[in-house]
Amino acid sequence: MKFFQSFCVVDSSLRILWVGGDWDDFARNNGGARALSNTILSTRLTAHIADTATADRVSQMVQAVLATKRPLHLDYRCDAPHQVRRFRLTIQPMKHGRAVMVHQLLDAVQVDPPMAAWLYDPLARSQKCSVCGAVYVNQTWLDPTLPEVEHPSKVGYTTCPTCDARIAAALRELVETGPAPEFAEGVLRQDQDRMH
Ligand SMILES: [Zn+2]
Repeated sequence: MKFFQSFCVVDSSLRILWVGGDWDDFARNNGGARALSNTILSTRLTAHIADTATADRVSQMVQAVLATKRPLHLDYRCDAPHQVRRFRLTIQPMKHGRAVMVHQLLDAVQVDPPMAAWLYDPLARSQKCSVCGAVYVNQTWLDPTLPEVEHPSKVGYTTCPTCDARIAAALRELVETGPAPEFAEGVLRQDQDRMH
């Protein structure tokens, strides 16, 4: 796969204001015609996320970036049966209470033999982590590229405990680091104005 990067600008209610980069190419190549940019503009980002666990995590990450005005990074996988794809999501604060979400392909490695193909089915018993791609098999989260693991043919999406912990740690780090200096100064100035 060629170099890939896509952008999506959202406001504090997660409304999509702008998308760009290779977004449409990726949507077309992965059967996501409904996700083409002209159909998703001004809709809410979370309306396009199948499960509430992932939608909640995305919402928490954007809100933390907006509150602290600091960037947040999260590495994730978005595999196809024949290919392991590692991406990095960077959520960057912008002016006027907006954030840009940048998805960048880090690498794509062929899987041979490929994993069994899977479909999203909200009623599926098997679960797949939307962040790391692990599947919940025999009450254990496993990487489906391991030779002894068969990818379930139908999956519901969620976030696995490992990714939940990773996201919680990233959120904690943002909150503990506190607002970026120019934001802190802005708050300080307001306080000073109030005192005078
Ligand atoms: Zn995971």
